[in-house]
Amino acid sequence: MYKAKAYSAASATAPFAADTIPRRETTERDVQIEILFCGICHSDLHTVRDEWSSVMPTTYPCVPGHEIVGKVTKVGSAATNFKPGDLVGVGCMVDSDHSCPHCHDGLEQFCNNATFTYNSADKHGTAPVTYGGYSESIVVDESFVLRVPANLHLAGVAPLLCAGITTYSPIRRWGDLAGKKVGVVGLGGLGHMGVKFARAFGAQVVVFTTSPSKREDALRLGAHEVIVSTNDEEMKQHAGTFNFILDTIAADHDINAYINMLGRDGNITLVGAPESPLQLSAFALLFGRKSISGSLIGGIAETQEMLDFCGEHNITSDVEIIPIQKINEAYERLVKSDVKYRFSIDMSSLKSE
Ligand code: NAP
Ligand code: ZN
Repeated sequence: MYKAKAYSAASATAPFAADTIPRRETTERDVQIEILFCGICHSDLHTVRDEWSSVMPTTYPCVPGHEIVGKVTKVGSAATNFKPGDLVGVGCMVDSDHSCPHCHDGLEQFCNNATFTYNSADKHGTAPVTYGGYSESIVVDESFVLRVPANLHLAGVAPLLCAGITTYSPIRRWGDLAGKKVGVVGLGGLGHMGVKFARAFGAQVVVFTTSPSKREDALRLGAHEVIVSTNDEEMKQHAGTFNFILDTIAADHDINAYINMLGRDGNITLVGAPESPLQLSAFALLFGRKSISGSLIGGIAETQEMLDFCGEHNITSDVEIIPIQKINEAYERLVKSDVKYRFSIDMSSLKSE
């Protein structure tokens, strides 16, 4: 075991503060990674503030961060995929049982024994729970380590490990989107990646936003049109016309208003995870045989496919780079949707702690 510098929160209401955390020495199949950048996902905020207490209560101290890019510093004797110096990424999972039907299907995120990157039981017993990427280093089983394309800007790659795969996976699963009308609800960390992917797959992309000030950005990011969802007239004009809608909203909202935007057999997929249940009108689904689904990140193979796709198409997240010392301020801004469009923490800032 060794000690790594990190930023942790001691309770749901405590601000982040500098800390040191235990990390295990590399076992045979492990890779040790020096973390260079870590994105700030809204799930980090939900977890730190214990907003998902009814489903996944938070254990403190909590060290979030599951949008990790870094450099390999050490490999275990039986780890064959990586060598020191390689640029790599780690997303929301660091292990699974490798043997259940979900793991066999490459859908490790649904494994009943999946170990998530933070706030998950630590089966190595290094600490009560796993600690995430707001830290100088991490040790991960090599089968959960991803290769990062060399041509991309690393700070903008970090958010691909969660925001990227979470939007890429349901968009790919929906099928051939060429020429289809696709809506992305909420232009935040996930939403702006959804726009980039839907556009790259040839869809007619429409952004629904509550923030009129994001209109120009949405178009720049690849949307063909923007609807301000608080404007009833704009909403009415598009009712019944969408094939597929990806809903990324992090807070309570009227889901029926977006179901009404779908055409016959249209689907709305939820990736946003508001803390309280949404109210669903059965009638909104019945007329038009519409469906509603959910999607959770993506498997490891699909995450690598997404990273390779981003390398080929030069896709990264639009980031605001911050030092770790600005983390509490960044959280306040994230709640207000005041970030374009993901904070990426420059982990070299931890060296001065
Ligand atoms: P984010 O950067 O905060 O973006 C969320 C966006 O939702 C905001 O930018 C805002 O967009 C819109 N929004 C926020 N509050 C709203 C409200 N009260 N009413 C309507 N719209 C609102 O968050 P994120 O990191 O993209 O995460 C979004 C959600 O996805 C979170 O709940 C997160 O936990 C969840 N998530 C799920 C998965 C998964 O695997 N399913 C993975 C990662 C994250 P506008 O300003 O454009 O309206
Ligand atoms: Zn996330």
